[in-house]
Amino acid sequence: IKTQVQSVQGKPLHIKKAAVIGSGVMGASIAAHLANVGIPCYLLDILPQSLSSEEENKGLTLEDPQVRNKLATTALKRLGKMKPAAFYDPSFVERITPGNVEDDLRRIQEVDWIVEVVVENLDVKKELLAKIEKHWKPGTIVTTNTSGISIEAMAEELSDEFKASFMGTHFFNPPRYMKLLEVIPHPLTDSTLLEQMVAFCEKVLGKGVVLAKDTPNFIANRIGTYGLIVSMQEMRDNGYTVDDIDAVSGPAMGRPKSATFRTLDIVGLDTFVHVARNVYEQVEDEEEKQAFALPDYVQEMVRRGWIGEKGGQGFYKKI
Ligand code: NAD
Repeated sequence: IKTQVQSVQGKPLHIKKAAVIGSGVMGASIAAHLANVGIPCYLLDILPQSLSSEEENKGLTLEDPQVRNKLATTALKRLGKMKPAAFYDPSFVERITPGNVEDDLRRIQEVDWIVEVVVENLDVKKELLAKIEKHWKPGTIVTTNTSGISIEAMAEELSDEFKASFMGTHFFNPPRYMKLLEVIPHPLTDSTLLEQMVAFCEKVLGKGVVLAKDTPNFIANRIGTYGLIVSMQEMRDNGYTVDDIDAVSGPAMGRPKSATFRTLDIVGLDTFVHVARNVYEQVEDEEEKQAFALPDYVQEMVRRGWIGEKGGQGFYKKI
């Protein structure tokens, strides 16, 4: 596999409709990006299991559509608040149809691309892919937005036909603004489909595609996670503060929005811990492994629910 693709000769895949599964930080934003370039999409998530007291007081039931699609609706509200990008199309929200995995997964038969964007956990992803395969229309491309879990491991129990249509499409946060996209095939990915997908991502989604090998955390997160954990370790060992690190990594470096810990609060510390663990567990060299060892205070923050913007507090308060 070449490590970088500047341009691809193949014709872009023709995607008329898509399904995004997982409506969290990334899923909602990927759906927004697709809708914004004119592709209608389903945005499916798991069912909320119980009513809040506010919903009970309003006389709502679990069957009420407003409750049924609570997670997706929350995501849609967030999409509505996103600042316009240069290519912003205000009608994009109408192209997103929220739903839940339990009732609406059969809808994937109507789409040309299914993108899995659920929590960074191999077992959860494998279980979902097995469900997707039951409704899957042969030929439909299926991709995962994993930050670094092995694509091959994720697909190991699926049929060879499904595997041929499966690969990683790793968007960066926030997907509507970040140009980089890693595309990660595995040994059974159909090579023509791979070329067509790369062409689609470049020409239709406007991305700068880098083809990555299926190694732990691929390219960007292997390097990025390393840098972040070293920053965290240096803070612990040398007494640097969050402000010190952000002062030298953000605006002062000409990157107004990408200071280290501001970025981590946007990413979500719970997701980051999964991503760090993924590479820590798979690296064999002991010295290299220690570079991926998360300080205890980061694990403690996650235990306390200080997971960043989506939890209301992370390295920064009241975001
Ligand atoms: P998140 O925690 O914000 O959202 C995950 C969503 O998945 C939640 O809404 C949850 O309800 C839903 N979910 C869980 N199990 C499900 C299931 N079985 N079926 C349907 N929905 C289910 O996480 P996120 O930050 O959006 O990350 C999603 C994926 O994208 C992960 O693989 C992550 O590593 C990757 N990723 C995240 C970032 C980032 O900056 N946060 C960047 C690139 C890639």
